[in-house]
Amino acid sequence: MLSCKHIAENATDYMEGRMNFFQRLKFRSHLRACVHCGRFLRHIGLTCIVSGSCTHQTATDQEVEAILEMVKAA
Ligand SMILES: [Zn+2]
Repeated sequence: MLSCKHIAENATDYMEGRMNFFQRLKFRSHLRACVHCGRFLRHIGLTCIVSGSCTHQTATDQEVEAILEMVKAA
């Protein structure tokens, strides 16, 4: 799993869609497990939405669930 430090350092790339699908997946799996980073991202997200600088090209929850099932089954 990614470290909280990694999440904090790369939050902007995540929010602005500068990650590939698997990078976003790893990022999101950390957010699902870590309440602190989830809260942090929501805070960043609000700032980002207000400033209008986000594209939000994130995977849908369904895409993430599908991949997680594949990973578990592997
Ligand atoms: Zn964390």
